[in-house]
Amino acid sequence: MGFGIIRNAEIEKATQYFINEIANCLTSHGKTKKMSKQLNILVFGAHPDDCDIKAGGVAALYVQQGHRVKFVSVTNGDAGHHEMGGGPLARRRYAEAQAAADVIGIEYDLLDNHDGELMPTLENRYKIIRTIREFRPDLIMTHRPNDYHPDHRYTSTLVQDAAYMVTVPNICSLTPHLERNPVIVYLSDGFMKPSAFTPDVVVGIDAVIEQKIDMLHCHVSQFYEWLPYNGGTLDTVPTGASDRRAWLAERLHKRFRATAEKYRDQLIALYGEGAGSQIQYAEAFEGCEYGSSLTAENIPILFPFFQ
Ligand SMILES: [Zn+2]
Repeated sequence: MGFGIIRNAEIEKATQYFINEIANCLTSHGKTKKMSKQLNILVFGAHPDDCDIKAGGVAALYVQQGHRVKFVSVTNGDAGHHEMGGGPLARRRYAEAQAAADVIGIEYDLLDNHDGELMPTLENRYKIIRTIREFRPDLIMTHRPNDYHPDHRYTSTLVQDAAYMVTVPNICSLTPHLERNPVIVYLSDGFMKPSAFTPDVVVGIDAVIEQKIDMLHCHVSQFYEWLPYNGGTLDTVPTGASDRRAWLAERLHKRFRATAEKYRDQLIALYGEGAGSQIQYAEAFEGCEYGSSLTAENIPILFPFFQ
């Protein structure tokens, strides 16, 4: 309803005003770094946990600086399990995603598309265009189009297909278009063909690594059930919650440490020799050619972590 939309816009504008005032006030007392503009960061993953595993660390860092982050799972996760499926699994995955979002204070939406069946249809492209326009992101993150899972590939295709179209007024014309195409970056992966992931930005996440693991710990059906079952390691998963978290942390520390080691040169280039060589855990991102360009000038604005 129109009235509701106007009210929400007014509330958002007032909220933004106070956030900026608080940030400026704190700056004037030398207690925190000036936040020149609140950023909107929108992350599209195929499944409930993809955004967390690839960008949970930077999401926590953005939130610490007062920026706004939203994760969107383009499917509802209703297939990835060996003992349950359909509606009950989708509702469980939704609840797990909300718990993960609450760990760092972000929004987490699940689009009601079946897991394992996502297609790059016009209908789904419109859903992505509307989601982008409503959130008005400065930066979008998503999978690369070359990835093992069809849902990952088509999530990437859908976001790439929505890029530019978000600026065209006569597409989805009842949802106000964006004046500028947002910058888009790809989430990291290890696939080599037709081209290897080549990061433009690598972010150290040591300060928030435990928060990131706390987020992933919320995805019980994924990290303690389905993925170990699928990988043939279900008998190694502990039963108690604290033992499970320790078991998960051991694996994830190793994984995110490997990212930092792999891209050590970029970390040193971005943070300097001293800090860059000390970072233990990292997440990495590569510019997508279909958004606005990721440049040396806008990297420090969109990724304000390197000062
Ligand atoms: Zn996935």
